[in-house]
Amino acid sequence: MEYEAVIGLEVHAQLLTESKIFCGCSTRFGEEPNRNTCPVCMGLPGVLPVLNKRVVEFAILTGLATHCEIARYSRWARKNYFYPDLPKGYQISQYELPLCQNGYIEIETNGARKKIRLTRIHMEEDAGKNIHDVRGNYSLVDLNRAGVPLLEIVSEPDIQSAEEASRYLKSLRSILQYLEVCDGNMEEGSFRCDANVSIRPKGSTALGVKTEVKNMNSFKAVEKALEYEIQRQISVLAEGGRLTQETRLWDADKEVTRSMRTKEFAHDYRYFPDPDLLPLVIEDEWIEEIKARLPELPEARKERFISQYGLPSYDAELLTTRRDVAEYFESAVKTHPDPKATSNWIMGDLFRVIRERKLDEKLRIAEWPIPPEHLAQMVRMIDEGKISGKIAKSLFEEMLGRREAPEKIVREKALEQVSDLESIEKAVDRVLDAHSQQVSEYRAGKEKVFGFLVGQIMKATRGKANPQMVNEILRKKLGN
Ligand SMILES: [Zn+2]
Repeated sequence: MEYEAVIGLEVHAQLLTESKIFCGCSTRFGEEPNRNTCPVCMGLPGVLPVLNKRVVEFAILTGLATHCEIARYSRWARKNYFYPDLPKGYQISQYELPLCQNGYIEIETNGARKKIRLTRIHMEEDAGKNIHDVRGNYSLVDLNRAGVPLLEIVSEPDIQSAEEASRYLKSLRSILQYLEVCDGNMEEGSFRCDANVSIRPKGSTALGVKTEVKNMNSFKAVEKALEYEIQRQISVLAEGGRLTQETRLWDADKEVTRSMRTKEFAHDYRYFPDPDLLPLVIEDEWIEEIKARLPELPEARKERFISQYGLPSYDAELLTTRRDVAEYFESAVKTHPDPKATSNWIMGDLFRVIRERKLDEKLRIAEWPIPPEHLAQMVRMIDEGKISGKIAKSLFEEMLGRREAPEKIVREKALEQVSDLESIEKAVDRVLDAHSQQVSEYRAGKEKVFGFLVGQIMKATRGKANPQMVNEILRKKLGN
């Protein structure tokens, strides 16, 4: 029997607010354990939560960017469960009345566009962190993360493959980064994803038993884990077995999913409206105000890069996934170098350097190893024939170390391409004199020698001779 996969994703995105959702503690990552805490986020008796307005603003911004309806009236709920990193014994979340509903994100799959519907986006607080087995047989609790604001973004089960899941997550992360509401760092856990996976016979509309897969810390992990889980479910059914609703953890070392516990159902959490917080009432005016601040989003920017700069779709996609990259490109092309050549340098050499140097994903333009105007200047110099492509490669390396304008480096190092007829002719003559043997061979019909002679001339001019002129002059002289 042929099966198809049905996948829904739940993303937890940590919001980039300065302070926590219900108290004034800092949200900074990597602080000494329990430093960013107060009676509210430690869950001491008698305290009351006070909502951080910025969290709601970020949630509305995200809702608008993903075509959601923004509820004018929503409510906070207590999600009850006990775990040592959750000192109150419940998490403040939203349940039956979330802030955002019925949105969608578009992805590209098999060359076509596909809408992945969003069920809901709601706000909630994060839990702390348990650290096990530090010294011996006990655990420690760090509450720095307790009360850090999260958005939970839940998709409909519209995703049909591991690849689509990965595309959806990349689009979503890109949108959050453009909005500057989340840094999208999967390793540090500020963008986390759980997946609900089931399979069903192709063409069937009924849903199969689903498992929830957790602990995927990179896009690669998501793809591998989902591929594994889909295959595992197919094998279980093929062998006549039954699937159980459970939570499974992705083990990145062994590349398998392992059963963690049977999955809880919503009713296990005994949700009820939080009596400490008023319902959330949002006025139209505020929504309009936030709407006016929406930046151009990755999808729109990609389309514009194609139409305005004539870039292929592949380039436009790569350049617009991250807002800083898109901005780098746009500030480079302001001075009119060839856009496609500029794009090639960014996607090729510049990305390579950023990868090699393990530069932060959140680079600001000022921190890029080469300022955009310098890259543009270099591309223009190649266009104008001032430097050869080969020289440009070494010039690029030079620019990396110096943060100086390429024109200055070229002048200083005398790298400029030689295009004057006389000096190229002289170089050609010298090489022909020194290789009379090869010249005779060429004239006797051994065409291959031509390339050798060009190589010798380029070597004699240290790569600076205009190659097109070298070819023309050499051909003329050999013809004589
Ligand atoms: Zn606090």
